[in-house]
Formats: sequence, C-alpha cells, structure tokens
Amino acid sequence: MIKLSQPKIPEHAINRVSEILRSGQLVHGEECEAFEVELAEYLGVEHALVVSNGTAALHLALLASNIGPGDAVLVPDFTFAATANIVEITGAKAIIVDVEADSYNMDPVLLETCIKEWQGPEKLKAIMPVLEFGSSKNLTEYLRIANEYNLLLIEDAACALGASDGDLKVGTAGDFGCFSFHPRKTLTTGEGGAIVTNNTVLYNKAKLLRSHGMVRDMYRTKFECIGLNYRLTNFQAAIGRALLVELDSWIDKRRILAEMYHTGLKELEEKGLVKLPTIDEGHSLQTYMLVLAKQFDRTTVIKKLKDMGIESSLGAQSMSALNLYDNKQNKNRSFPIGNELYAMGLAIPLHESMEDKDAVKICLALKTILEN
Ligand SMILES: *Cc1c(COP(=O)(O)O)cnc(C)c1O
Repeated sequence: MIKLSQPKIPEHAINRVSEILRSGQLVHGEECEAFEVELAEYLGVEHALVVSNGTAALHLALLASNIGPGDAVLVPDFTFAATANIVEITGAKAIIVDVEADSYNMDPVLLETCIKEWQGPEKLKAIMPVLEFGSSKNLTEYLRIANEYNLLLIEDAACALGASDGDLKVGTAGDFGCFSFHPRKTLTTGEGGAIVTNNTVLYNKAKLLRSHGMVRDMYRTKFECIGLNYRLTNFQAAIGRALLVELDSWIDKRRILAEMYHTGLKELEEKGLVKLPTIDEGHSLQTYMLVLAKQFDRTTVIKKLKDMGIESSLGAQSMSALNLYDNKQNKNRSFPIGNELYAMGLAIPLHESMEDKDAVKICLALKTILEN
C-alpha cells in the first residue's frame, strides 16, 4: 500500500532516543532546550517553546493573548477542527471566514469585510489563519489586515513548518506561530508541537502557562499564575532535532513529487474531472489535495484507489458544516468554497519515502478510475 504519509525516523535518532531513555532525563530538559534554540534559528525568530502537541500550542497562544469569554477570533472554514475548537474552549467565539478555491487559505477580501461589518456583541481580538497544507498564500495580507484593525495575528501553522513567503517564514509573521509535530505533518516527534514569537513578553507568559505557572530555583518553587502542563519530553525533542536537519531536503523531494502529480494529472484537469491545487514557491507540501468534480462519489474513488494499493482520504473539514460553532455570524453567512472542499477534496500520498514510480502509478490509477 502506498500510504498517505509515512514518518521516517533515521537510525541515529533512534539511538539518541535510547541514550536519553537510559539517562533517566525523560521530561523537559536539555534536549528540549537545544531543540528550541535550533527551531528558533531555523525560523529566524526570537523565541521558540516546544509543547506537547499542536493544539496545546494554539491553546497557549490564545491564553497568553488573554483571549477568553466575550472575545471573538476569526478562523478559516476549511481546516482541521482543532483550529475552531481551541477558540471555543477558551470561552471565546470562533467566527468562520470562507477560504479561496486555489490556495485553500482564508480569503483576505472576505476576512476584511467580516471585520469591517463586525457588530459584536463579542470583541474581535485576533485573526487565526491556517496556512493550509503548507501554503503561505496571503500571509503578508493577513498581517496588513491585523495591523490595520489592531487585531492579534496568531498563525495556525500546524501543518506548515518549513513554508515561507520570500524571506518570511510561516509562523513568524504575527504575534504567535503554532506548529504541530503529529506524524501527519512534515516533521514529527510522535505527539508534539511548538509555539514561536518575536515578542518577549508573550513568550514569557506562554512559557509560564506551559508548566503550571511555575518558576523554580534551587531552593523553592513559586506559582506565578494558573497554568497547565503542556511540556514535551526530551526523547521526543531528540527525534525533532534529528528531523529538523532533514526538513528542507524532504520538502524539496515532496516538491518534485507534487510537480509529477501536476504534470500527470493536467489532462484530467483539462477535461474538467479534477481541479489541482496551486503550489506557490515556498509551499511546504504537507499534503497534496485535489478536488474531484461534482459528478463523482468520493467514497467510491477512495475505495477503488485502495483496491489498487493507494491510500487516500478527504483533506480537511469545513467548520461551518460541523455545526458545532453556532453564533449569529456563522449562521447568517454561507461558506460555499469550504463546503465544496470538504465534500470533494481528495488527499493523495505525499511523503519523502515515495519514489517517482509511485507518483506515476497514482496518476495512472486516477486516470483509470475517473475516465471510466
Ligand atoms: C494537525 C493540525 C492541528 C492539531 O495539531 P495536533 O498536534 O494534532 O494537536 C491544528 N491545526 C491544524 C491546521 C492542523 O493541521
């Protein structure tokens, strides 16, 4: 079976994990701190905090920004549910904005309209765009809008480590950038994540919240605020450090495969049977999702691909279609693009262990299925 994604852990990382397990230094420690320094360096950002998962990273960003009951945060319609869930968990409201059909990212025109026409009752506090599947599209526009309307910019860059817009790395544009190291992402530590910022005050707040609000020295422990435990372990950090070195070359490998898809599936697009994603320069290619034409039944296509030894799935969810986030703003508007991507999006395998012949096989399989 050609898998959708396949974590690749080098032997030297496995050896390093064994060493740490033997050392007994299991929870947050030197290995995590070294990983933080390397991540901050890689991203060109002041501060990085490694955390237990991507959802925890988003939660810390919202809590450190004092977002809670009475506030509202703008999120895209097409994303993983964690984006909207975490806003609602803080007591704030997730306000949904539809996405663009080519990049799958939040539509900046709809975003700005939503802000201009905002009538409350909640206070708009932040924009939380998702750089979907590793696309950096509109990042500088989100930053302009956040500055113009005095809103925080918290990037849900969970699936976009390694993506960039020119010199600007995804995750470093606004107040906070949040990453996930789940095995479905380009860099994995099993569970894991990170939060990055250039703002030292916000960094210190997030750091306190990550570990019970605790400050320790040799002789005593002080509790400075009410916090959580969202720490990563040293042995997970060892995996992350080993993979960070490989990341850029793995993204290059994924880019070659995505180009093969593009060439191989062009004919299907010209016939109106699929729509292919726009892959801008700087895309980190966490997932390759195409969109099937309306006449197809996606479940049947997924089953047929599986019979041919190819794993596939839907790409992400439409927040409005989940019917979990009801407030007046979400009820009174429609989200046609996000709804369609949720209904017809098809993610096909993309990972660095794939060979060119796998991509060729997948293109041929899709032709066979969709042209008959
Ligand atoms: C994966 C993902 C998350 C959640 O990350 P976890 O590490 O699984 O908690 C949140 N947002 C987006 C956009 C994601 O892709």
